[in-house]
Amino acid sequence: MKQAVFLSFGKELYLNRPLEKSSEQIKSFIEKNPSYKSILIFYEELLKLQEAIKPSLNVPRVHVKKDVLNLQAREGFSLLNKEDFIVDIPSSVNLFESICRTGKNANEKMKENIQFIEEAILTKKLDPGELLQKHYDISYIDRVAGEYRIDKAILNFLIHMSIQPSIHANVENVKEFVDLKNWLRGYCPICGSLPQISTLKGEGQRYFLCSFCGFEWHSERLKCPFCENRDHNKLHYFYEENKKVYRVDLCDNCKHYIKTIDSRELNYDPDLYLEDITTIHLDILADKQGYKRPAPTPWGI
Ligand SMILES: [Zn+2]
Ligand SMILES: [Zn+2]
Repeated sequence: MKQAVFLSFGKELYLNRPLEKSSEQIKSFIEKNPSYKSILIFYEELLKLQEAIKPSLNVPRVHVKKDVLNLQAREGFSLLNKEDFIVDIPSSVNLFESICRTGKNANEKMKENIQFIEEAILTKKLDPGELLQKHYDISYIDRVAGEYRIDKAILNFLIHMSIQPSIHANVENVKEFVDLKNWLRGYCPICGSLPQISTLKGEGQRYFLCSFCGFEWHSERLKCPFCENRDHNKLHYFYEENKKVYRVDLCDNCKHYIKTIDSRELNYDPDLYLEDITTIHLDILADKQGYKRPAPTPWGI
């Protein structure tokens, strides 16, 4: 029965893509750009670990408040707050532990930080269940990172990857309540988070991928998602050399940027998380030009 819930996952949830599809893409990315090899192999291992816990995941249906449903699109209310998401803590702790084991082989920085985390857990100073349960609590995460000398971006990344299967299960349970027709905002209609990346498909419609819950929603093409600026004199973009598929949209009003993948230029259905990882060089270029990325970068890089 639990398995059936996962099999019914919608297409818009990238985590639910068949693993083989992402593996194929990873292989071809590594061939084209070997410098991404270690990070991509780690990413593939994470996908496999997440996949392995899905059948035993236990996430009951989350309750959406009636007044939120009524006011949603008109007032711009997201269906849930981050703390409303139901997280299967025992499964997530198992996943966290296996991600930490694997992560120690990913790179030196990850290894060092995971050792700090493991030490705090072993000496019973840090409870992994509490850590994952309080994923939304910024001051708690700040305190843990500071107390055990853990890099905050890496800590957030490990937490996020561990609770992600639960988060996606919540999305599956509530997505039918989203009024997508009337929602053209720059933040996620399910959880209110900012987009991580955007994509163009079909006849050039623009979609955003939520940086927290992985939901994908349709929005206006010529608008900054972060400040809603529509003034085209303040909206610019640049492409990766001669490759129209990878674009960086810049806003001079708020000085933020978002990467946009033009799926129409690709001969495969892209895994946007993967595309985000393999275009980190574009984040560096945008940063050099003085633009900031409001959503976390993959792996906290
Ligand atoms: Zn979301
Ligand atoms: Zn803006």
